[in-house]
Amino acid sequence: AAKKDGRGRARTFTRSMLIVLEQREMLRRSLRTALSEGQFFIEYQPLMRSSSSVAGFEALLRWRHPLIGIIPPNVFIPMAEADGLMSEIGQWLLERACRAAATWPSHFTVAVNLSPAEFLHEGLTDRVAQTLDLVGIRADRLELEITESVLLERTTNNLDTLNTLNVLGVQISLDDFGTYYSSLSYLKNFPFDTIKIDQYFIKDLERDEKSQTIVRSIIALAHGLGMHVTAEGVETRGQAAWLQNEGCDRLQGHLLGFPMPAEAIGEFLRKSPSASVAGVLRT
Ligand code: C2E
Ligand code: MG
Ligand code: MG
Ligand code: MG
Repeated sequence: AAKKDGRGRARTFTRSMLIVLEQREMLRRSLRTALSEGQFFIEYQPLMRSSSSVAGFEALLRWRHPLIGIIPPNVFIPMAEADGLMSEIGQWLLERACRAAATWPSHFTVAVNLSPAEFLHEGLTDRVAQTLDLVGIRADRLELEITESVLLERTTNNLDTLNTLNVLGVQISLDDFGTYYSSLSYLKNFPFDTIKIDQYFIKDLERDEKSQTIVRSIIALAHGLGMHVTAEGVETRGQAAWLQNEGCDRLQGHLLGFPMPAEAIGEFLRKSPSASVAGVLRT
């Protein structure tokens, strides 16, 4: 009887596993044509200075699947990476985001995320330089965001790539700081302009003294190294006030602005600087 039960359970397990696998396989297949079918779009989330002015926008990739609807980047980007598609998608996004930035006030920056495969791609630095040339925006208006996971491998090449980008004049941010294999040697060896503190530490900032100590230390560390600090995932006035008081340079999160389509930026700018955002930050 035990044997039968065991087999039964094994069969059920296999079947549901199969369904998951088939769904993933279906997604992966449609991912291959998503770019040529025009299914990707970009939302832009504001990055606010603590003084309450807009510093720029971060480009966030979305996939509108014709049957499933909008699929978040955390789901499809790892698939695109595994299938070698991310480099091409990333190039599409980089050019498009830079073209959007070219229509904004010229002191606004645009932040673009780079996945490991994009960062490790041989032609990355040439591609960035060519895109800036083509679109005609200053290099310091582009911020490239990479996570620590990117830096785990091929250390000398990584340093070369970051130094080349630095020489081009592009800004480099260390995204999701504190969540991966945070190693202080990255901060010593690599030329970052900005550290972005992961929302994990911001979430419970108002209640948790440990998070407060960690965030305070990251701010001091960044400033001591001549880098700027951005807090991600700021959702409450209490968090914003605390961060402002501790000297955090920039804030990003739903409190200050949701990711929005490029066409909504004009209205956001007309409404925000004077009214809601300043009200939020100047308390
Ligand atoms: P990220 O670069 O750390 O981006 C911030 C994420 O936090 C975004 O999720 C954003 O929508 C979300 N977020 C912003 N403010 C708040 C808030 O107040 N509360 C909460 N709970 N969440 C907030 P999203 O758009 O789903 O992107 C997830 C990740 O996917 C990004 O994390 C980034 O690592 C990756 N990603 C997004 N777009 C791209 C892209 O174009 N290329 C690459 N390589 N990766 C991308
Ligand atoms: Mg980012
Ligand atoms: Mg982040
Ligand atoms: Mg993240």
